Amino acid sequence: MTIASSNGTNGAKTDGTLNGTNGAIGANGASASISTDSQNGVKVPVRPDRTTTQGKESKLYTIPEGADEAMVEAVRTMLIGVGEDPEREGLLKTPKRVADAMRFLTSGYNQSLEDLINGAIFDEGHNEMVLVRDIDFFSLCEHHMLPFMGRAHVAYIPNQKVVGLSKLARIVEMYSRRLQVQERLTRQVAEAIQETLEPQGVAVVMEATHMCMAMRGVQKPGSWTVTSAMLGVFQEDSKTREEFLSLTRHRPAFF
Ligand SMILES: [Zn+2]
Repeated sequence: MTIASSNGTNGAKTDGTLNGTNGAIGANGASASISTDSQNGVKVPVRPDRTTTQGKESKLYTIPEGADEAMVEAVRTMLIGVGEDPEREGLLKTPKRVADAMRFLTSGYNQSLEDLINGAIFDEGHNEMVLVRDIDFFSLCEHHMLPFMGRAHVAYIPNQKVVGLSKLARIVEMYSRRLQVQERLTRQVAEAIQETLEPQGVAVVMEATHMCMAMRGVQKPGSWTVTSAMLGVFQEDSKTREEFLSLTRHRPAFF
């Protein structure tokens, strides 16, 4: 068994640059494309976005030209809407800052699973559970565009093939940096690992606190939402599932 704790040393850092030429978004639409991994010759399906609406994959739009200026203008409109003066010194650069921050926080749209994995799949003949726990993640809820954040625990039981441990954290990060609901995010991470490695099973548990519940709405700051996705042996075999859960169970101490 391999257990890695990612807390604090989360290797999944991105530099925030946007890859505007990534053909995986927009150009491919919502359809799944298959590409061949150059090292292993393994077919790695790439679905840039697994967002579904009533079972159908939603359409992906190419970011239109002039979108940056339009976003800046929209933030300015919001400032006026809340009764602020956008010409006030402290707010002069706010629309641009907010637009830039939004681009960064949604930069997962510009990444694809294929680019992220980048051939880091190894045929190790390893068939014991691999678990990376305490992967910090930050996402935005798609209903309010307010943050939800917490920790993810990701495990799989390989079928010979393993992936670099940091890639698990990167997968969590890629799907987190999109507008999300926690349930879908959890499932997307599990499905991405399933498709990439075709392991015996995948288990993902995410524990998060939602600012849209803490700061508004029911205003319950202490509440945690826990979601899980179990595939393969984790779904079929209660012992395997229990083993995983006992290894991840602890009081969340993120806040
Ligand atoms: Zn929300």
